[in-house]
Amino acid sequence: MTKRAYNFNAGPAALPLSVLQTAAEQMTDFEGTGMSVMEMSHRSKNYERLNTETQQLFRDLLGLPDGYKVLFLQGGASTQFAMIPMNFLRPGTTAGYVINGTWGSKAISEAKLIGDTFVAASTKETGFSSVPDLGSLQLPENTAYLHITSNETIGGVQFPSFPDTGHVPLVADMSSDILSRPFDASKFSLIYAGAQKNLGPSGVTVVIVKESMAEQSPEHLPTMLRYDTHIQNDSLYNTPPSFSVYIMNLVLKWIQSEGGLAGIEQRNLEKTNLIYKAIDDSDGFYRGHAEKPFRSRMNITFRLYSEEAEKAFLAAASEAGFVGLKGHRSVGGCRASTYNAVPYEACAALAQFMEDFRRKYK
Ligand code: PMP
Repeated sequence: MTKRAYNFNAGPAALPLSVLQTAAEQMTDFEGTGMSVMEMSHRSKNYERLNTETQQLFRDLLGLPDGYKVLFLQGGASTQFAMIPMNFLRPGTTAGYVINGTWGSKAISEAKLIGDTFVAASTKETGFSSVPDLGSLQLPENTAYLHITSNETIGGVQFPSFPDTGHVPLVADMSSDILSRPFDASKFSLIYAGAQKNLGPSGVTVVIVKESMAEQSPEHLPTMLRYDTHIQNDSLYNTPPSFSVYIMNLVLKWIQSEGGLAGIEQRNLEKTNLIYKAIDDSDGFYRGHAEKPFRSRMNITFRLYSEEAEKAFLAAASEAGFVGLKGHRSVGGCRASTYNAVPYEACAALAQFMEDFRRKYK
């Protein structure tokens, strides 16, 4: 039996063991072709089928209505920060950004390089420990789109539900919580996510876009940065990140086998409840960063009551085989990333370890 680490990495992150095993079995011979997907032409029938099937898996899992296109692009979510305003932020319009952490701040910084923007709502004042209430949001008539970050990976805060923006297109960075729970995808005009947390390896970025929004990109845009290029070419304009798409295909099938998004959500709730309970029952020894209603089911951020205790905790956790618990370098503290593929057993082991450490540490 392979020894698997208790992997709480923030991304690239844990993948389902069964996916890795299938990929290992198919590494030298994918479905009788005598080659791995890595060695295959992206213009071959086999790869075209993989491309189409993976798009369809997204449609099925999300219950996507007609009129959306699923694209597999490169350049990470960071490239989407620029591509979105390049394609949609036209002269005379402005783009609204909801800021509830680092990634939303980065997204608006890129958009500012392209055109007019405004902060529609922010939780900066309160240290990004919650998400803004968007219930009564008033947006200017000329708002090109409203951008939100559904889950802030560094602060560990997540939107419990999504706003209705009427005729203003809603755009979401779902890099760190895509396919972790059911939601109404038809509320969104564009959803994007780097794959390396919930979907597969790094190297592919999924973009789900309403075709009516992206039919025609501005003329001056370079070919690769236009959504219409990728839409018209069914996401095969140039060489795609084929191996990443293949692993993602296996991950999506794994999600289906776990009961789809409802099944995955249930698993994620059970897993994360264990760790949040260890925090809440600790008499202030562990201190959760996020306000309870906005606690992320993907990134659990916490501190210990002192810096010294925190250092000792991280050292002991590492010694005990827990990987990736150090908080992001920009904020410090601790973070357990509990993406879809992190097993229940790993979360149970961490919760137990936290409890044991608290009892022993004095
Ligand atoms: N958005 C969010 C919410 C993220 O967590 C990350 C990466 N951690 C990014 C964007 C940037 O993604 P990439 O590294 O794929 O550009």
